[in-house]
Amino acid sequence: MWVEALDLVLQRLLKSGFDFGKIAAVSGSGQQHGSVYWKKGSSAILSSLDSGKPLVDQLGNAFSIKESPIWMDSSTTKQCREIEKAVGGPLELSELTGSRAYERFTGPQIRKIYQSQPEAYNDTERISLKVWSEIALEATAPGLKEKVGKLAPAYDVAGHIASYFVDRYKFNKKCLVVQWSGDNPNSLAGLTLSIPGDLAISLGTSDTVFGIATDPQPRLEGHVLPNPVDTEGYMVMLCYKNGSLTREDIRNHCAEKSWEIFNKFLEQTPPLNDGKIGFYYKDHEILPPLPVGLHRYELQNFKGDSLEGVNEQEVQEFDPASEVRALIEGQFLSMRAHAERFGMPSPPKRIIATGGASANHSILNSVASIFGCDVYTVQRPDSASLGAALRAAHGWLCNKKGSFVPIACLYKDKLEKSAFSCKLSVSAGNHELTSKYALLMKKRMEIENHLVQKLGRW
Ligand code: ADP
Repeated sequence: MWVEALDLVLQRLLKSGFDFGKIAAVSGSGQQHGSVYWKKGSSAILSSLDSGKPLVDQLGNAFSIKESPIWMDSSTTKQCREIEKAVGGPLELSELTGSRAYERFTGPQIRKIYQSQPEAYNDTERISLKVWSEIALEATAPGLKEKVGKLAPAYDVAGHIASYFVDRYKFNKKCLVVQWSGDNPNSLAGLTLSIPGDLAISLGTSDTVFGIATDPQPRLEGHVLPNPVDTEGYMVMLCYKNGSLTREDIRNHCAEKSWEIFNKFLEQTPPLNDGKIGFYYKDHEILPPLPVGLHRYELQNFKGDSLEGVNEQEVQEFDPASEVRALIEGQFLSMRAHAERFGMPSPPKRIIATGGASANHSILNSVASIFGCDVYTVQRPDSASLGAALRAAHGWLCNKKGSFVPIACLYKDKLEKSAFSCKLSVSAGNHELTSKYALLMKKRMEIENHLVQKLGRW
């Protein structure tokens, strides 16, 4: 399917009369955690492609695993625990690689394939990934180092485009291929996040929060990755499984399947929701690690000025309007709390909201009040692929200059007129309300910790 998708994109461009000869460099954005297992002999297939035929007809026999595991997979708990144990514990693994082990991550996925399909693992020539720590490789599967290849900076040129694409699509022979990356790092590039304090919130199928940090502290929650647009600093990221699909679920149950009614409920109910707090996990959640379930609490005596004498009581249900507000406030209070714990600046300098639900102004209103900063939206929704294109230009420029140049050189003072411009959607909420939310957040985290102790999956 992925090979066919690449054929399709290039065919559509060809049919539109696009001049491939003008492309100076390409890069790409892969679906993060979607690992690809090249079979022994696949590099020979790749180096002798027939430009008269589509890729899909020629690569049918190039993969040792026919179905790539993707980020929704949560079947590798056993392998996660084994890897963590082998390196000395979950925190040790996080200090070594930037994250503890998660089911969707490629390491545990590889280990599962090695354990459950040893023949396919042995028949694998190359896994399209970057190099990892020796200790983590050891802990995952034997002989993995040769299969994952060498680490390269994100702006590095991988080589010239293959003759297959030159012959079939008339790409220029000198077109450079700049290292590809995953969708989240590409989004960071595409949203032009470049300074610590810039925070992106992506509200898609999953919800993610990411930003740049100079000195992040790897923890049990969240992930630290190399900064995809700079040689220094890191990208830090939080990832939630219950994003838009869970919001849709509540919308369907409480708001007659209509975002309009959902928004009316948000606007009708007061900020802080009269102390009503909810946890909504339609799927096993990653952050916090809780199983499927709904948990609702009402705070008694909560006025927003102190937590003294404030007690929570578990309740079975809320009225539909309060349910909607509890869902929205809950998600952004959780994001604020975990981002602060992770060492991201608070309040952020600005938030750039992206993904499907960033079209919803009522939701963004809550984001601005809870975080206490301005919220911007981008002109175009496809920040991951835009980011890959921007990184291709960046790699091309670094290559031309013979050394690394900051990516901002490409768009400094020119953002306004480009696809990368963003516009102010909601101004920072009032300071007093943001402080009241800080108290509600504290209480929510207390309850969350209790839930994790009682029901946590690890
Ligand atoms: P993906 O992560 O799959 O790329 P998108 O970023 O395209 O997803 O987001 C799609 C989601 O956006 C849908 O599942 C839908 O629930 C949500 N969405 C679309 N419009 C709105 C809206 N007005 N309010 C809230 N959510 C919305």
